[in-house]
Formats: sequence, C-alpha cells, structure tokens
Amino acid sequence: MTTAFLQCIEDGCHRKHTLDRKDYRCDACGGMLEIGYDAPRVAPQALRQTWQSRKSSSAIEDQSGVWRFRELLPFVPEGANVVTLGEGHTPLLDVPRAGEWAGGVRLAIKHQGNNPTGSFKDLGMTACITEAAILGSRVTVCASTGNTSASMSAYAVRAGMKAVVTVPAGKISAAKLAQALEFGAVVIEIGETFDDSFRLLRALTAELNLYLVNSLNPFRLEGQKTIVCEILEQRDWRVPEFIVVPGGNLGNVSAIGKGLRELKELGLIEKLPRLVVTQAEGANPFYRMVANNSAELIPVAEPRTEASAIRIGNPVNWKKAIRAIRATDGMVESVSDDEIFAAKAALAHDGVGCEPASATTIAGIRKLVASGKIPRGADIVAVLTGHQLKDPEISLRRRSEADLARQRLRVEPDVNKLRAALERVLASD
Ligand SMILES: *Cc1c(COP(=O)(O)O)cnc(C)c1O
Repeated sequence: MTTAFLQCIEDGCHRKHTLDRKDYRCDACGGMLEIGYDAPRVAPQALRQTWQSRKSSSAIEDQSGVWRFRELLPFVPEGANVVTLGEGHTPLLDVPRAGEWAGGVRLAIKHQGNNPTGSFKDLGMTACITEAAILGSRVTVCASTGNTSASMSAYAVRAGMKAVVTVPAGKISAAKLAQALEFGAVVIEIGETFDDSFRLLRALTAELNLYLVNSLNPFRLEGQKTIVCEILEQRDWRVPEFIVVPGGNLGNVSAIGKGLRELKELGLIEKLPRLVVTQAEGANPFYRMVANNSAELIPVAEPRTEASAIRIGNPVNWKKAIRAIRATDGMVESVSDDEIFAAKAALAHDGVGCEPASATTIAGIRKLVASGKIPRGADIVAVLTGHQLKDPEISLRRRSEADLARQRLRVEPDVNKLRAALERVLASD
C-alpha cells in the first residue's frame, strides 16, 4: 500500500502535511499544496497490463477513466467507496480538416465534453467528492464560471451532500445553470466576475466549515491528471510532440503536467510532450506573465471574452502551471474571440463540436504554426474541455447573416413552397 500526503510545492520548503486539512496552504510558508505519495514499486509493464485488463471488467470503478488508474490515486483508504458517474474514457479523434486549417499539422482531439456532465471537470470532481466523503463533509461549495458548478452538483447529490455554488451574476450560460439547479444545488449569483465570487466565498469556507472544491483543492488535480494515461494508452504509449489545453484557472494544465511527471518517474514514458496553454486575449494574465518573463502573475481586473469558461482574471493555479510549462519546455499563446470562433467553425468540418473555451486550443495552434513556433507536420493532441451544447446561445449568435440566410429557412406549410425551397438547396453547392 502506498501512502499519500499533502506537500508544499515551494522550492526550499516541500513540507509534508496530513491529507485531512482543508485550507490547502502550507503551515510553514503559506505555499500551495499538492498530493505526494511514495511511488508504487510496480514495473511499468505490469501497470499497463493492469489498466488494460480492467477495461473488460464490468465494475464501475474499473470502467471509470479515473479510477481505472487508481494506482496513481493512492489517497483512498482500503474499503472506502468512490463517488463515480463513470467519467472519463473519452474519445481521441483525428481531425484532419482542422489540422489542415491550423497550418498543416497532425491533429487529434481528446474530447472531454463526452463526460457525464459535459466537461473535464468530472475527472477532478469524482476524486475530490470522494475525498470529501472520506472526511465526512456534508456541504460542498465552489465558485464557478458554470461547468464546475454543474459537475460538483451532480457528484455532491450522488454522495448525499448539500451543494452551494457562487457564480458571477447573469454571466453563466443557461445550460450550465440549468444543470446545477436540476441536481438540486443552491446557486448564489454574486459579483461581476468569477474572481469576485471566488474571493467572497473563500473568505468564509473555513469559518463555516465548507468543503471547497475549486481547483486549488489538490484532489481535483489528481482526478484530472489521469487524462494523460488515457491519451497515451490510446496512442499505444507514443508520446505526442505537443499537448494543448485552454487556460482559465490553470488547474487542467497543472494536472496534466503532474500526470506527465509521474508517468515519467514511473518509467511509463521516456520523454515529455511540450505543453501549450492557450488563453483568450481579454483574460490572458498567464500569457502576459510568460511573454514578459515576469516572476509574478499580474491579475486582469476585468476579464473579457465570450468564452465564459475561461473568463478568469486571477488564476489560482499559476504557480503550479508555470512549473508544468517550464518542466515540459512549454509555451503559452493568446487568441482573440474572433480567432476562437473561427477555430470552432473549422473543427465543425470534422463533425466535432465543443464549447468556445475549448476551441482556443485550435486557434492557438494555428497562431503558433504561423509564427513558426510549432513546425508544420507536428504531432499534436488538443484537449477539448467542454461539450458543444454547453453554450448554445453564443454559437447561434456567432453564425453569420450569410450562413443563417442559407441554413435557417422558414417555409409556409405548403408542399409546393417546400419543393421550391428544397430545389434551391439541391441546386446550391
Ligand atoms: C474549467 C474550464 C476551462 C478552464 O480550465 P482551468 O483548469 O480552469 O484552466 C476550460 N474550458 C472549459 C470548458 C472549462 O469548463
């Protein structure tokens, strides 16, 4: 049995703490904590075989794309139940037309929209609600741009916990709000931005003994890191040259960086892919930090972008994220909303839809190929973080007049008029 602990990420500190603390700050230096563990001494080949063989099991924890890799999540005590909705095992798909559009790269997408509540947040949520249950928590809370609230609400209600979410007033998509409400959560609209609602909530979590599941909760990142196991398994353990993710609160890139580091330490891979983070121009503090070579992140006070999932001005995980970028010789790119929606349209030609935040990856790749920072022909996996149906209002609003005139027709209920309309469609190219 491996033992897990919380550990400070700051160089020169690395103090260890027990798993049951909830503020996720180091006692000694105030730094961020992550989960550490004494690595299992298992041969890489044996691990691969164990993971592979679980695919033919009918037990739900073997089918989950998180718990199938449970050797990497050794914080669950023997005999404890995991709270799962069968998350993960999402497809890795070639998207040749989008790859061409992006400048002639070999592009595949890992579609995390195909998760129980429609975003990658489910990978982290199964892990941290499992931990909340182990600790006997009764109330879970989060601040959210929408997807975290939908995901937390589902896993919390399944575990028999009360769920409370804070969201910026009037700023989250109706689809995400409807999900949280349907799962019985209380939704508090507060503040103008995600950052406001997070700051206010965080001020009260300790006082009221609330279990906070935002991505500064290191158990979230443990669940999310398993995406790298799936990607590599789906590629027969051939490491891609680049893995590209959108950046909001920077939990996902941090988790992927940690997952890669651990797989390398365990001998499952020999080299690392380069990690690329893409941000929206109006909410790009991490991009600016890296571009300006600054030591500290300067928050964006009024983050703006139509990609609401990444409308975040003060990402909590930047210290973990910068480590992931440095450790993998990674890059950060920034793209405009117009570029994001053009990328989304390009992906649609491969029959793949996603929410706007996810499409920043494809827009970023195109920009990096154009500037020569990614070579043509590169082997790239882009992580699509959320489902196409998460943000239908914007997708409709973003269709051009010309497209709508061609695609969205209103015809009187008369067979001759319908024939005429169909004939026009058949004659067009
Ligand atoms: C949460 C979210 C992001 C941002 O992920 P971070 O881990 O906060 O960087 C991107 N896309 C979608 C769809 C999301 O739900």
